[in-house]
This record gives sequence, structure tokens and C-alpha cells, in this order.
Amino acid sequence: MHFPQNRDYTVIVYILAMALILFGCSGIERSEEDKVRRRNCKGEYIHRKHDESFCQIAFPASAPRSAYPWEGHLPGISKEFFRCKGSSANPPIVDRSDPSNPAPRTDCEGSSRHGLPILRAQQGVYPILLDLLNHVQQLTGKRVIITSGHRCPAHNTYVDPSKGNGFSKHQIGAEVDFYVQDMEKRPMEVIQIVMDYYKTHPQYKGQKEFEEFLRYDKPDVKLTTKPWLNKEIFIKYHSPSEGRNGDNRHSYPYISLQVRYDRDAKERVVYDWKRANLGYPHD
Ligand SMILES: [Zn+2]
Repeated sequence: MHFPQNRDYTVIVYILAMALILFGCSGIERSEEDKVRRRNCKGEYIHRKHDESFCQIAFPASAPRSAYPWEGHLPGISKEFFRCKGSSANPPIVDRSDPSNPAPRTDCEGSSRHGLPILRAQQGVYPILLDLLNHVQQLTGKRVIITSGHRCPAHNTYVDPSKGNGFSKHQIGAEVDFYVQDMEKRPMEVIQIVMDYYKTHPQYKGQKEFEEFLRYDKPDVKLTTKPWLNKEIFIKYHSPSEGRNGDNRHSYPYISLQVRYDRDAKERVVYDWKRANLGYPHD
């Protein structure tokens, strides 16, 4: 006769414990509860329309984004924007195409060493240039980038040594080269805005010699687009392959505005050597 050993009792207790866990009375009770619950429950379907909800959620609507801090606050164009862009850090340039002039061209020492042209007893540029550029900025909401404002004679020669450039009105504060940010490829729209200024501004409105722009077709201007001129200004359009110089090394088309007539002094504005070379404060 075989009597169970201690080890056998352990196995039997283990099996009974597992059976209790798996098939415990709680499971049986739960199924009874379920039966009662099911008996007392009534099926009821909830019918909702597609747009019904407890909390109405507003349909998303597009809203314009708020402006970044640097947007909508374009700084007004002042004479400070016109300061000479020369720098003593620019390297000397040796023009090997002209053996008669082997001396290298050097740049000026920059606007920290010399000022703007003296105009009516103070440093500045012709005010019509400021008026037109500020008008372009206000109307377009885009930033005007001045690539070349005042050029002292040294910087003027450094950026463009050609003979004709020696008479550049950049030297007397009467010329500016610029383009408009975000409108780099649409300079004709900017030119139209400049022309329309003369049709709408009360100072010029109704005066034919300011309102009407003629085309300049003399051969001394070698541009594919004929410039425009009225009594006060001369407008030149430079394509991406024209008018490239040390100040205009970008790849965009750009616009030059040149003052022809001083509306305050009521006289023509012409290049003047003395004004260009001596008419500005420098060391
Ligand atoms: Zn300079």
C-alpha cells in the first residue's frame, strides 16, 4: 500500500489552489450578477443627428496670422540710408585692361571718415529722393533696399572707373540705386508707383511737366530699356545684366533715380566737380 509522501501533498495543494483561482466562486457570482443586470436592463438606442452634440464646437474659420515684430514697421528712409558704402577693408583693384594706368584703385575709408554732401548748409541728399522712396515703401508695404546712395569720388571711381561715371550724380547726393524686397522681379510696378506719385501728390498734381514722363532715347545711355524723365527726375531701369558695379553686385534688376531739378531752389541739378570733391565733410 502506497501512502502519499510530503512532496505529493504539496503538489495536490498547489493544484487545488490553482483550481480555486481559475474557477473561484467569485466568477460564478459575477455571472449571476450579469444575469440579473441583463434582466433589469432595457435596450435603448440613441439616435443623433450628425450635427448634434452636447457642446457646440465652432466651425474652424481661417484667421489672418498676427504680424511678426519686424513686420509692418518699416523704418522710414532717411539720409542715413544714403551714406557712402566705401570701406578701407575693400582690397585694391588693379585694372589689367588699362596698361597706361597701372596704379591700383583703392576705396575710401568709409562713411565713418566722411559725411554726406552739404546741401543748403547741412549734410543730406535731395529730399525728393527720400519722398519717393518712402512713398514706395508705404504703398507696397515692402522694404526699399538702397544699394548705392552717396558715393564720395574715391568710392565712385572704385566701384566704376568708366569715364562717364566720373560725372555721376551719386557724388552730390542727387542719385540713388535701389530695389524693393519681395518685388525684386517686378521693378516695372515700382517704376509705375514712382510715376503715379506725380499724378496724385498735391505739390505736383495738374502740372504737366511733372505729371508727364517722356522717354529718353539719346545714345549716351546704353540700356535696353529707354529711361523715363519728367522735369524733376530721371528713371533708369537696369536689367540683371546691366549697370553692374561694386555697389550693385546683386543679381536683381534695379532702379536708378536721378534728380534733374531742385524744386526748392528752382534750378537744374547738374554734376559739379567742386561740390562732388569738396562739398562734403571729410578728414
Ligand atoms: Zn566714401
